[in-house]
Parts: sequence; C-alpha cells; structure tokens
Amino acid sequence: MQLFPGAEVLELPMQGFGGPSVVHPVLLMSEEGATLVDTGFPGQGAALEAALKAHGLSMAELDRVILTHQDIDHIGNLPAIAAGRATVLAHRLEAPYIEGSEPLLKFNPERMQRMLERMPEAAQAQFKQLMSDPPKAHVDVLLEDDEELPLYGGIRIIHTPGHTPGHISLYFPKHRTLISGDAMRVVNGQLEGPGPEVTPDMPTAQASLAKLPKDVEYVLCYHGGLFGPGAGKRLQEIVG
Ligand SMILES: [Zn+2]
Repeated sequence: MQLFPGAEVLELPMQGFGGPSVVHPVLLMSEEGATLVDTGFPGQGAALEAALKAHGLSMAELDRVILTHQDIDHIGNLPAIAAGRATVLAHRLEAPYIEGSEPLLKFNPERMQRMLERMPEAAQAQFKQLMSDPPKAHVDVLLEDDEELPLYGGIRIIHTPGHTPGHISLYFPKHRTLISGDAMRVVNGQLEGPGPEVTPDMPTAQASLAKLPKDVEYVLCYHGGLFGPGAGKRLQEIVG
C-alpha cells in the first residue's frame, strides 16, 4: 500500500507470541536511496525479504534503517539489515538499548514471566533464547527532537517518549503524513493513543501526543495501519 509517492507500507503478518499480528514497517525510496522505518519481529525475516523483493530490493541493499524505538517487534531484523550497507538511525536515548549495552526495557523479568505463561509450550524455548540474546546493532546516527532529515522532501523527527524513553515519530510535512511508531495505534478503525499495557509511562506518552503536528492528515501506526484523512481532528480529540 502506498503511503505517499515513494513511500510504501509493508505488511508483515505472523503468528506472534501472543496471537496473530500484522506490523507495518515503511519503505522509503527515491534517488536518495532506500530507507526502512522499523524492521519487524525476529522470525519475520523471510516475510520482510519478500516484501522488499516486491520493490526490487533486499535487506542487504537498504541504505538506511530508522528505528522508532527499541522494542523487539521493531528491531527484530535489524542485525540482518545492519550486516549489509545500511546506516542505522535512532534517537540518542534509545541507542544503548539497541546496541545491547543496556537490557531492552520491555524484557524485564516480571513482564517476561507473564508473557511466557500465556504462550504455547512450543514457543517458550524460542522465546527464552530470544530473551537471552536479543537483536542488536551499532547505531550510526543519533537523532534529536525536532531534527530535520533532508530526505524524501523532509522528515521531521519528533521525540515522543512514554512508550519508551527515546521513542520517535516521523513527520513528512509535505505530505501531512506521520509515521507514529507505537505513539499511537489504530484500533477497530479508530486512531487511539498508545496501548497502556505496553506503555510504561502513560502520562509522558499522553504529553507526547500534544507535540504532534496539528495539520496532520494521515497517521501510519505500526500496529493497526493507516488512519486518515482527518487525523489532525482526531488527534485533537485524543489530546483533549
Ligand atoms: Zn510495537
């Protein structure tokens, strides 16, 4: 699905640890090269390769990968991509987790125990293995709030902490389109704030929504997909 000319929404389906799910990385393409925003779960490598192949690309041929944050469903295929030629970009506060010098914040023992209990036995061993050796890669470019990347007509980096400390959203002013990462979700066709279950700091996450551009028409959520037009009006309702 095209988000705007030169931006393709990939759909990666999988039987997740907690049930079936689809996630939505975005592929940006122009003469400036190919950039992937978020990389899917570990185990979605083949699905990601197939989705890239449909656009004449492979993981090894990506020029950049921008990570909205450190969560496992976003960094799952990062090592395979970073093994190619891609430059890795993430917010400064997220880098230590992505590089593996700090343990992933959502991989805390209590939360993991709860997840393991909900999981079929066959998946447990695989999950434990993943916990003991999560995906990681060097972050080449540290991003800051309000930074403008001179790519694809301009990308504004908006620091949207709460879901994680260094979570970012990407705004494309020219297209009035926001890639929200997990700062927002689409649930039953409606644009919503972040999932409380997976957002450790909800007050901060809520405050982050107030930073988002009011003139936005479309929001692409990693979980739930595209919302719009009219996203700005809905955003105002959520922010209150
Ligand atoms: Zn996520």
